Amino acid sequence: MKTWDVIIVGAGIIGLSLSIALRKRGAKVLVVERGEPGHEASHAAAGMLVECGAETPILLQPLAIISARMYHEFAHELQDESGIDVDLREQGTLLFPAPEHVHERPGFTTESLLPAPLAQLEPALAGLKRPAIFLKERSVDPRALVLAALKAAKHRDADISSGTAVMELLLSKGRAAGIRTDKTTYGAPVVVNCAGAWAGHLPPHHFPTRPVKGQMLAVVGAKPGLQHVIRAFEIYLVPRSDGRILIGATVEEAGYDKRTDADTIQRLHQAAIDLVPSLKPARVLEAWAGLRPGTPDDLPILGATTSPGYFVATGHFRNGILLAPVTAHVLAQVVTGLRSEYDISAFSPGRF
Ligand SMILES: Cc1cc2nc3c(=O)[nH]c(=O)nc-3n(C[C@H](O)[C@H](O)[C@H](O)COP(=O)(O)OP(=O)(O)OC[C@H]3O[C@@H](n4cnc5c(N)ncnc54)[C@H](O)[C@@H]3O)c2cc1C
Repeated sequence: MKTWDVIIVGAGIIGLSLSIALRKRGAKVLVVERGEPGHEASHAAAGMLVECGAETPILLQPLAIISARMYHEFAHELQDESGIDVDLREQGTLLFPAPEHVHERPGFTTESLLPAPLAQLEPALAGLKRPAIFLKERSVDPRALVLAALKAAKHRDADISSGTAVMELLLSKGRAAGIRTDKTTYGAPVVVNCAGAWAGHLPPHHFPTRPVKGQMLAVVGAKPGLQHVIRAFEIYLVPRSDGRILIGATVEEAGYDKRTDADTIQRLHQAAIDLVPSLKPARVLEAWAGLRPGTPDDLPILGATTSPGYFVATGHFRNGILLAPVTAHVLAQVVTGLRSEYDISAFSPGRF
């Protein structure tokens, strides 16, 4: 049986980032991916790096802030090692809060929390009369990011096995000993489950992860286009440097169904045009759906399981692109026997 120091199940952004962090520590790593690396949730994401969104659970905020601070170095390192531009954009976000939140803030006017008048910051929103806040949040292109992570992992001699489904964790005297795939068995004293929305199905352990579907679309050709990420309560828009604008996203309990629905995509498209009229003549490039790894308390599942040598890093739900650097950092510490630099006790697999 071929053996490694660590086997990672799943080559999404979480598994690939962790493989790089472990290679930096000298571990021999195998990443086993059922399909094509980076083609599930990490391929579907918008790429907003939201530090403190209304949907970010309070317990997750410290980790989200730490990861956001790590992003510049994380993205540039992947970019340098892969030669792939990950489109890390620093222009910031314009947030249009829900009306009920605005009423809670007396004296809150359209211009009050902006560094310049809205029409000047974002000409495409010139006619909009809604209170807005400027946030120094970045965005990234997750498809480019995950491709860069794959290339960087290979460059650092992580082994990647694609088209190989992991069927179960192998245990020996209660400890992790490797994995059984649909083709063979591989040995390792450490196995990390980074299987995203499918992480709960790897016997013998069961984690309460579930798929949470998100549908999105991308358009091109808006004039004027957008400079900032736009977050409103009904819709978000994420511009890419090549002129594409992503419009998202639904949050649906629909099982493992990744089909898009024409009416839903049309509704998202119309909501975006209502907010940014210059999108009307823009051409729809594509529509897609992805499956976020959800958990019962909307928090990730990170750390050691009850089987020594078996770890999990999943359940990143709406924030997996943002949380990739900090997850890779702390999991690399924990699986190599060090104390986690940041407190991840709230995310323990044992809480369920
Ligand atoms: C529409 C949408 C918009 C989003 N927007 C954002 C955003 O703006 N910002 C943000 O931070 N996050 C966003 N997210 C969330 C983010 O995409 C996820 O949290 C993140 O991609 C999870 O990464 P992952 O590596 O855990 O999962 P995945 O990318 O799904 O990777 C898991 C991998 O494991 C593989 N796998 C599963 N089972 C097995 C098995 N048995 N054997 C081998 N391989 C297996 C899968 O094939 C898959 O490739 C969004 C998600 C969606 C769907």
